[in-house]
Amino acid sequence: MWLRIIYNITPITEIKGVGPKVAEKLTKLGMTSAQGLLFHLPYRYEDRTRIVPIGSLRVGDHAVIQGVIELTEIKFARKRMLICRVRDGSALLVLRFFHFTQSQKSNLARGKTVRCFGEVRRSGSHLEMTHPEYSILSATQAKADLTEAVEETLTPVYPVTEGLHQISLRNMVNNAFDLLNAGTLILDDYLPTVLLNKYNFSNLKEALRFVHYPPPDVSLSDLQDNQHPMKQRLIFEELLTHILSLRQLRARVKEKPACIIKSSQQKTNTFKATLPFELTNAQRKVIADIEGDLLKPSPMQRLVQGDVGSGKTVVAAIAALQVIESGYQVAIMAPTEILAEQHYTNFVNWFEPLGIKVAWLSGKLKVAPRREAMALIESAEASIAIGTHALFQDEVAFKNLALVIIDEQHRFGVHQRLALRNKGVSDKHGKQRAPHQLIMTATPIPRTLSMTAYADLDCSVIDELPPGRTPVETVVLPDTRRVEIVERIIKACEQGRQVYWVCTLIEESEVLQCQAAEDTYNELSEAFPDLKIGLVHGRMKSEQKEQVMSAFKNTELQLLIATTVIEVGVDVPNASLMVIENAERLGLSQLHQLRGRVGRGEQASACVLMYRAPLSQNARTRLDTMRQTNDGFKIAQKDLEIRGPGEVLGTRQTGLQLLKIADLQRDAALIPKASAAAEELERKHPENIAPLIQRWLGDASRYADV
Ligand code: ADP
Ligand code: MG
Repeated sequence: MWLRIIYNITPITEIKGVGPKVAEKLTKLGMTSAQGLLFHLPYRYEDRTRIVPIGSLRVGDHAVIQGVIELTEIKFARKRMLICRVRDGSALLVLRFFHFTQSQKSNLARGKTVRCFGEVRRSGSHLEMTHPEYSILSATQAKADLTEAVEETLTPVYPVTEGLHQISLRNMVNNAFDLLNAGTLILDDYLPTVLLNKYNFSNLKEALRFVHYPPPDVSLSDLQDNQHPMKQRLIFEELLTHILSLRQLRARVKEKPACIIKSSQQKTNTFKATLPFELTNAQRKVIADIEGDLLKPSPMQRLVQGDVGSGKTVVAAIAALQVIESGYQVAIMAPTEILAEQHYTNFVNWFEPLGIKVAWLSGKLKVAPRREAMALIESAEASIAIGTHALFQDEVAFKNLALVIIDEQHRFGVHQRLALRNKGVSDKHGKQRAPHQLIMTATPIPRTLSMTAYADLDCSVIDELPPGRTPVETVVLPDTRRVEIVERIIKACEQGRQVYWVCTLIEESEVLQCQAAEDTYNELSEAFPDLKIGLVHGRMKSEQKEQVMSAFKNTELQLLIATTVIEVGVDVPNASLMVIENAERLGLSQLHQLRGRVGRGEQASACVLMYRAPLSQNARTRLDTMRQTNDGFKIAQKDLEIRGPGEVLGTRQTGLQLLKIADLQRDAALIPKASAAAEELERKHPENIAPLIQRWLGDASRYADV
């Protein structure tokens, strides 16, 4: 209630015709106040500003015509209907009504002048309108100048909902504008004039009025495609608000105290010395960013983007060592069992020689080992815990968790990031501390997009691959050439190369996918008994999977038949060839992830994308893109173009569902401006932030938990 008073919000029931029932319907459409009606924007327009001669109508037009009724009669074709013939100076038009009353019939009397609005269709040799909106003109009206009494502006068409008619909604919006003009409804402009002038934007009222009631000479395509400056003005405000809300969230997280991590670097240095390679400059730079964050008394919120194979795991390990050396615990979470297991194996090899105990926790653990792992974590005997999201269940209690690392997670939303913050932390002195967070993703997203989707995070990019990598050569072949492809694989195996064969299916069914992998496994094993072939899929037991994977890693297996469980993170540098069956069914980022399993060693690698014809347009674009580039950033850009940010990043995760008119892809050019404006507003007009958020996000309470 007090919010309403502070922000001058008028109850929606103040609008003429809005009682409690209608108010409920309006709420469904996102309108909770009278001001809200002004922000319910038309999605298209009708031109009722001029009367069109019947002779120049075209099929599909929505138009106003005016003419004299020649004849009105009831006809029985398949149904009973009312037919009314109208003629103007140019031609004849038929009006057709399937539902009508007797008084309607007598009203549409011969000789009267009628004005109609409707969609033009063809019926046999003539044009007609079915159920047009119409009015009978009085004799004086009929004689008056034709241009009189037609609408002065284009007519808005609004999104409606069941039981709420277009015409009633239009009247309500009209009424809201009447109240606005009368000064009864207050609508503050929270964007300072300086800012508006800078981008040549109109003030809010002007922009809203224009978008609801555009003049007849406007470029309709500009307006409907959201390119018109008046529409851009509103989109800008929405984007700005979206960014402000995320930045506010970030500021609140930063207010929490965190442990200051000042590492002795002893173990870190030992670890670096044992690595069989030098860190790349990009890795060093990102590690420096992280060390800088850890030295601060507020929680790190850092996103590390790095292409497949750029060496994120080592960066995670070094970050973890800093924290462990300072006497705190680290948790590393991976999205899949296989990937978590691989990290576990890596970290055990790296850390146990340094005297650091590693705990393992996944959802599939039996009761006893699970209890054991939880005890290790609770006592802090294990300084580092690795696992799947099972790590963050309520029962898991860390003694002094100071760093959470989330690997390969591009669909990790604001909500989840927040939930982690509450993973009870107290420092050595028992004081509550929020853990630092490091998020790693191989799905790079363009800067404009991360400015909004990840405005609550700092970003670092590993923009360089370790030296000596040769790009994977990619070929695209139809499955009619399967026999030939199999021969090529066998030959490669005989030459000592290791090969992945990935089976996919259109159904998102794990069972069927595993079945397909088993079938291929049986078929190839029978045909080539001398070949050492392994099989790995999601329905196998962990130990089984691990056994097969390590056999492949140790070159005991030549060919590994797998499902997409190996999609993310699996690292076997000696594997240099990959076949992906039904590649046309996979998305770009998935293909890129899969292909990233090869090309990790010194030797030249290849990837065969096998498809079943016919290819859809999008599938063809995807496969072409894969053939043309190995660059994860370019692939991500293409993926965004094809699927849009909601699909790529997750609509809910990014809060995209809360955007009413902006589109992060389409309006990308506005984002840097909105981002700069957000900072300016924070500096100069912080008092405007809350009402803006209230206006655009309302009670959506995106971050209720903050
Ligand atoms: P991703 O970024 O995809 O998670 P990984 O961390 O799995 O990549 O690293 C891929 C491979 O590159 C691993 O075999 C890793 O040991 C190796 N690697 C990482 N950093 C370097 C480096 N600086 N020089 C050479 N090889 C490296
Ligand atoms: Mg990785």
